[in-house]
Amino acid sequence: MFDVIIIGAGVVGCAIARELTKYNLKIAVLEKEMDVCEATSMANSAIVHSGYDPNPQTLKAKLNVIGNKMFDSICKELDVEFKRHGSITVAFNDEELQTLKKLQENGLENGVETRLLSPKEVLELEPRISLQLKGGLLAPTCGIVNPFELTVALMENAMDNGTKLFLDTEVLNIKKEDNKYIIITNKKNYEGKIIINCAGLFSGKIAEMIGNKQIIIKPRKGQYYVLDHFKEPFVSHTLFPCPTNKGKGVLITPTTHGNYLIGPSSEFTQESYDVSTDAEDLAYVKERAKILIPDIPYNHMIRTFAGNRAVSQTNDFIIEEDSKAKNFYHVAGIQSPGLASALAIAEYVVEMIDKNEKLIKNKNFNPIRKPFIRLNKLSNKEKEELIKKDSRFGRIVCRCEIVSEGEIVDAISRNCGARTIKGVKKRLRAGFGKCQGGFCEPLVIKILARELNIDPMSIKYGNNESYILLHKTKNDGGDDNENL
Ligand SMILES: Cc1cc2nc3c(=O)[nH]c(=O)nc-3n(C[C@H](O)[C@H](O)[C@H](O)COP(=O)(O)OP(=O)(O)OC[C@H]3O[C@@H](n4cnc5c(N)ncnc54)[C@H](O)[C@@H]3O)c2cc1C
Repeated sequence: MFDVIIIGAGVVGCAIARELTKYNLKIAVLEKEMDVCEATSMANSAIVHSGYDPNPQTLKAKLNVIGNKMFDSICKELDVEFKRHGSITVAFNDEELQTLKKLQENGLENGVETRLLSPKEVLELEPRISLQLKGGLLAPTCGIVNPFELTVALMENAMDNGTKLFLDTEVLNIKKEDNKYIIITNKKNYEGKIIINCAGLFSGKIAEMIGNKQIIIKPRKGQYYVLDHFKEPFVSHTLFPCPTNKGKGVLITPTTHGNYLIGPSSEFTQESYDVSTDAEDLAYVKERAKILIPDIPYNHMIRTFAGNRAVSQTNDFIIEEDSKAKNFYHVAGIQSPGLASALAIAEYVVEMIDKNEKLIKNKNFNPIRKPFIRLNKLSNKEKEELIKKDSRFGRIVCRCEIVSEGEIVDAISRNCGARTIKGVKKRLRAGFGKCQGGFCEPLVIKILARELNIDPMSIKYGNNESYILLHKTKNDGGDDNENL
């Protein structure tokens, strides 16, 4: 039996798992997909919001502000790239200038410093912004992080400290017995004393399994354009329009790896799984983004994507022990700023459990994750030395993002290692560039099959149904990459 079972391995479930490994507990994480970070945590704006914006009375505001401050130290421990680049919210008329002042006051109440900027000051920082602007609000503590890297790193470190991860394991039902819960999955049953529902868009469904119909989650879709890297930065800050009742609006932001995101749209949708993009919403994104920057170079666009926000009926985070089921905790309605708040949510949940259980510290907890070798960050001399020691770092598999065979083997062999093509892509960006995997995908399949010692035909793109190879078309024989 496990002391704690976490349902869902998004950024929230993984952050909670890591936080719990600081105590002497037997922990399991059940995830229905083939990898961690496959749902909302994978498809968002990747912004670590400063926290000036949420209503001060909400849990969102409290956990956003605390969470933002935790990023520097935890990203250092986990070797995850994080930049505090700052955000600018831009006003284009007098009414919006008033909104900036209100946002500043709201920020002060939340404990977040911001600075009002004149149009000249905004343009000095971001010369591409429309000359129609009337002013801006700078939030210097806003940051960007790679959500896949963060989620994988949290789980890898949790596993290094003893957590067990069960992938491709969908929770189908839950039974309550005297002092434990029996979790019925598509694979087998798991028993746990404490259960934490971190199922994102499906957290309402998990709550229903124990008879709680009070958590109602509606998916609200957001669609984006992704732009390629530029020689000179296209923008250096996250640029927000003034928020409306639909949310933060269509923003333009750099990512930690030098791409740019433009979006998201914001429309309720019926289907939590539906992350398709459509011409109508993308046209809306273009139309809104044009107000911030009139000449966005869409000829550098490399793809579009969509993610679904898990919007609860309270429009706030729901983090509580179930009123009727003791030791069953819900962490639901974690919409934006859920990524920015994830580390603080984890502390908050563990404090709640500690109050009830009096947890005992794990003296062996190691917060440090083994650093990743990132070839494209090394000097030529460092690269030469590395390749002399291990020639696999000299074989470039992804030419767009410069990812070597050595890095891919490392990403497969770690705890919470890559098992799918998308798993390699999320951890290392192989397949993220201009060709979107056109060159590297067959090589990635070959490396995955070799390292996992399985048939290449069984390698999936992402989910369990996404086969890439259906049957052989040629006899085995040499090929251009036979040394891989
Ligand atoms: C368009 C958009 C933009 C956003 N931008 C930002 C931003 O810039 N900054 C920010 O702070 N936040 C942002 N967010 C919000 C942020 O992405 C989420 O708050 C966060 O990712 C939620 O994480 P989670 O772990 O709760 O959910 P998820 O990542 O959805 O994880 C839930 C997991 O539970 C699993 N699961 C579900 N049902 C079951 C089951 N029955 N059995 C087993 N497993 C199950 C799912 O497969 C999934 O992996 C944005 C969200 C969207 C959609």
